Amino acid sequence: MKRVGVLALQGDVGEHVMMLESLGSEVVKVRTIEQFNSVDGLVLPGGESTTIAHLLETSGLKDVLGAKLKEGLPVFGTCAGLILLSTTILDGRSDQWSYAALSLSVRRNGYGRQIASFESELDVKGVGRVTGVFIRAPRIESYDDEVEVLATLDHGDATGEHPVFVRQNQVWGASFHPELTGDARLHQLFLNSL
Ligand code: GLN
Repeated sequence: MKRVGVLALQGDVGEHVMMLESLGSEVVKVRTIEQFNSVDGLVLPGGESTTIAHLLETSGLKDVLGAKLKEGLPVFGTCAGLILLSTTILDGRSDQWSYAALSLSVRRNGYGRQIASFESELDVKGVGRVTGVFIRAPRIESYDDEVEVLATLDHGDATGEHPVFVRQNQVWGASFHPELTGDARLHQLFLNSL
């Protein structure tokens, strides 16, 4: 059986754990190097990207995850997790860093602040209709050819349609929160790729 980790420094860790367990996988809350070394794939949860980045630094895990990404560990970043995986962060804190594992730029809170959180029906390639829960979500502003777009959203403002679910080789990113609905199909998709 595949072991899948959820980075457990901050954010909605428990929801991802429950969803992955409901799919029958063995789940590890990852906080140490040993735990990083024990998993076949890793979920980076939503939360606050600056806080997670800070905790990765203070815990000494920043470079461990960086090395794992380079080695090809499959990783699925949702919301703040997507921000951490991106190449460029727009409207980030001036000292905000990211892993550049997805060749795209994201704008933090690109769909508005907490009060502007919303749900939207998405059409996900190979999966079908999925409800996307967007909470202070990052908006993908641009992306390179290596990035496969699996779902887009036109939120109805002047900026038009943007990707909201993407994959680049073994790295996946969603700007919404798939762990907050009862629908585990996107987690299953990630598990199938391990
Ligand atoms: N806006 C948050 C950030 O910049 C992400 C929000 C979320 O993960 N729900 O980290």
